Amino acid sequence: MTTLGPDTARIESLRGGFGGSVLLPGAADYDKARRIFNAAVDKRPGVIAQCTSRDDVARALAMARETGMEVSVRGGGHGVAGKSLTEGGLVIDLRRMNEAVVDADALTIRVGGGATMADLDNAAQPHALATTGGRASTTGVGGFTLGGGSGWLERKFGLACDNLLAADLVTAEGRIVRTDADDHPELFWALHGGGGNFGVVTSFTFALHKLPDFSMALLLWSPEYGPDVLRTYRDFFAGAPDEFGGAFLFLTGPPEEFVPAHLVGRLTCAALVTCAGPEAVCQEAVTPLLGLAPEGALITDMPYAEFQRMLDDPPGMRNYWSAEYLQSFPDEAVDAFCARAPEMIVPSPSLHVVFPQGGMLAGGPQEFPVPWRNMPYAVHPFGVWEDPADDARGAQWAHDVCADVRPWATETVYLNFIGDEGHARVVDSFGPGNYGRLAAVKAEYDPDNVFHLNQNIRPA
Ligand code: FAD
Repeated sequence: MTTLGPDTARIESLRGGFGGSVLLPGAADYDKARRIFNAAVDKRPGVIAQCTSRDDVARALAMARETGMEVSVRGGGHGVAGKSLTEGGLVIDLRRMNEAVVDADALTIRVGGGATMADLDNAAQPHALATTGGRASTTGVGGFTLGGGSGWLERKFGLACDNLLAADLVTAEGRIVRTDADDHPELFWALHGGGGNFGVVTSFTFALHKLPDFSMALLLWSPEYGPDVLRTYRDFFAGAPDEFGGAFLFLTGPPEEFVPAHLVGRLTCAALVTCAGPEAVCQEAVTPLLGLAPEGALITDMPYAEFQRMLDDPPGMRNYWSAEYLQSFPDEAVDAFCARAPEMIVPSPSLHVVFPQGGMLAGGPQEFPVPWRNMPYAVHPFGVWEDPADDARGAQWAHDVCADVRPWATETVYLNFIGDEGHARVVDSFGPGNYGRLAAVKAEYDPDNVFHLNQNIRPA
């Protein structure tokens, strides 16, 4: 793979008939266009092809083939390892392909390959419809879904990939493929967790679900109450109906009205319960947590699309995350998890999170290569800070959190929740049998591993 930019004639031939923009270093928008969510990633692509159509994508891929340039695919730019950018190569930037079209009768939505969660949620919300989405509105539907897609509604509606009905894709050779359960079924299977390994997905069609009511409870305590709260939270979710989702987390207390002054800007322990139902149902369900006398509380109805924006992080911060999937969460694991909270960088947007799983997440289709869906808990240290001087500390904290809970962890892990942790981790994440099957699909659709800037599956 060459990392040199292509010659002028080739650039001009790409521009001819290209619907979007072709940015080279030095162009006015170049620096803005190469910025991604993780500010610690600073790569300078040779070409950024801001595509507006499937044809643009095919043209850009053709140029990469002719020049031998390395290719990266950029959706929402949220991947923590920054693999949506290439140093010196060609970025296929899909952000302008963000249309979202609802068919309210068929209960489906079709979104462009570069749509964000906000694009999807804002189109579905006026119809009181929704599907499982990521927990930040700025995350790309593309990278999110192709990795599996975990969100607040997963215990009710399954993973995002469980709701995927069809996808349009451009292969490395420029072949246009439409895939669903009947057409190219092995490829369709691989798109349920195998990431961006098989081609550039230019459109996704999802099933939508009726969601007339949505509510949430966010309850706050001083951090020393963490172990008591987490035990109660764990016990609640052990028997909770699928309508409920959420997270137990440590965070920096935000400057909001419902947050008491002594927690603002300080390490705070929080129990978040989301409810695919009205506020009264949510209020009743959290009675055991209210019994622990939270120091701050917000319990309210809210349109789901609005709630989806609630945890949006500011851009321009540095990130390091990892994850472990736990087979059980006994009291010792609770204590180990909480004990590491004080080392989180505070104040910062970092989150020290446990997601309760189960419900339709565990009960959904078992054939897809996302075996972590069956683990009852996901531990996700999500480190976000501003000062480069904190890089080593932030990463170490995430490593330590994972090491602390590893005695209860399984090898399988959701690859969207981790950065680059090596090839063995990728193989292990898919569980026995799945990696080989994915590698066979890869060999068919991307035999030269053109799409290698991802959690990479090597062609069989
Ligand atoms: P990008 O960095 O643009 O893409 C990541 C990779 O996906 C690319 O390298 C490429 O290989 C591939 N890709 C993207 N789009 C396409 C496409 N159309 N066709 C082919 N390949 C493509 N994950 C969850 O599951 N649940 C969450 O709640 C959640 N919350 C998050 C919150 C924040 C603030 C952040 C930063 C991340 C969160 N994530 C969550 C992780 C997220 O799912 C992954 O980072 C995912 O890869 C992001 O996709 P993207 O398109 O935004 O990222």
